[in-house]
Amino acid sequence: MKTADIIVIGGGITGSATALGLVKENAGKVLMFDSQLPTQRLSRANFGLTWFMCKGGGSSTYAKWCRTACKQWPEYAAELEDETKINLELEWTGGALHAFGEEQLKAHAASVEKLTGVCGEAGLDYPVSVLDRQQFSELVPKLQLGEDVSGAMYTSQQGHVNPLKLLGAMRKAFQQRGGEFIGNQNILEIIPNGNSVTVKTKDEEYSCNKLVVAAGHGCERLLFPLGYKLNVYPQRGQLMVTERCERKLPFPLLAVRQTQDGTYMIGLSTEDVAHDIRTTPQAMQQQAQNAIRIFPELASVNWVRAWGATRVMTPDGAPIYDSLPTHPNIYVMALHSSVSLNPMHTSVVAPWILDGRNSELISPFSNGRFNV
Ligand SMILES: Cc1cc2nc3c(=O)[nH]c(=O)nc-3n(C[C@H](O)[C@H](O)[C@H](O)COP(=O)(O)OP(=O)(O)OC[C@H]3O[C@@H](n4cnc5c(N)ncnc54)[C@H](O)[C@@H]3O)c2cc1C
Repeated sequence: MKTADIIVIGGGITGSATALGLVKENAGKVLMFDSQLPTQRLSRANFGLTWFMCKGGGSSTYAKWCRTACKQWPEYAAELEDETKINLELEWTGGALHAFGEEQLKAHAASVEKLTGVCGEAGLDYPVSVLDRQQFSELVPKLQLGEDVSGAMYTSQQGHVNPLKLLGAMRKAFQQRGGEFIGNQNILEIIPNGNSVTVKTKDEEYSCNKLVVAAGHGCERLLFPLGYKLNVYPQRGQLMVTERCERKLPFPLLAVRQTQDGTYMIGLSTEDVAHDIRTTPQAMQQQAQNAIRIFPELASVNWVRAWGATRVMTPDGAPIYDSLPTHPNIYVMALHSSVSLNPMHTSVVAPWILDGRNSELISPFSNGRFNV
């Protein structure tokens, strides 16, 4: 049997950020397994927003967590780029959520007021403003706004990144620092043995002192045999990508962003269809109509690709970071918005796993909070 100090199951964005944090903390021998299942391609199929705005309407802890993550992002990216020489294509140029009509603009104002208060209680700023149509238009001078756009919610303190570059850079930094990445290996079973844990692949067994299960939708299957019921559900999102165009959009919107190579990415669908990751003409049509309603000139741009993926959602939208009550050396991380929260997984969650640091920050995110 092979041995390690810590094993991470799942080499997506969550597992990679955490594994990187562990090797940065000199956690000993750290192995990260990833089965690279085509159906679990979330980390390679997302919108790439590094975002705090509007997040945490239903959970003040989550609002603060997202705000703190965004504060860490620019420095986190700079360090990762320096270490790996991979350009993450991070643009810290802000972000906006459009409004159609006066009612939506009023709802934006209420959201800003509420989250400003929530963040303020924790000594955090919430630098978001509500812009009228004219003010929003001045921020996107190369694009004409659709006639229904009444304004937007806007912050200059967030941005977007190339999620593929981010994933590649984290895996590279992890390996440069001595971590071992074992791709194309499915973990079939977890066997707790008191102070150690064994995991089984088709051909091998590995033993470790601590196990981190960051396997996206794979977490449930791995943990259910241990009597642990994870409170997550799948929610499909579909994205569409256009041909390359002259760059005109200076910062991302929640529904439309323009990447460094000029393509527009368009999204915003949320669907309850279990683990079906197919794309549908209905979602494409709705998303395209929405984007064209914001920026009418997108009607003349060709759409070239699309895909679907299922978010790992929790009932309150906030992450689950937990250790199993029956096996405290087995940790689980299951969440949406892992791109935005990425720095927290390296700088806060990894030290918690290693030696219990930051437990006061982590405990509100337990799986048990839903067992009422
Ligand atoms: C349409 C869409 C848009 C999104 N946009 C954003 C965004 O703009 N910003 C943002 O922050 N978030 C966004 N997200 C969410 C983000 O993509 C996820 O939070 C993130 O990818 C989750 O990463 P993960 O590593 O937890 O899970 P995953 O990406 O699912 O990674 C888990 C990995 O574990 C592996 N695995 C599973 N089981 C096993 C096993 N038994 N053995 C070994 N390996 C295993 C899988 O193959 C997989 O590679 C979006 C999601 C969707 C669907």
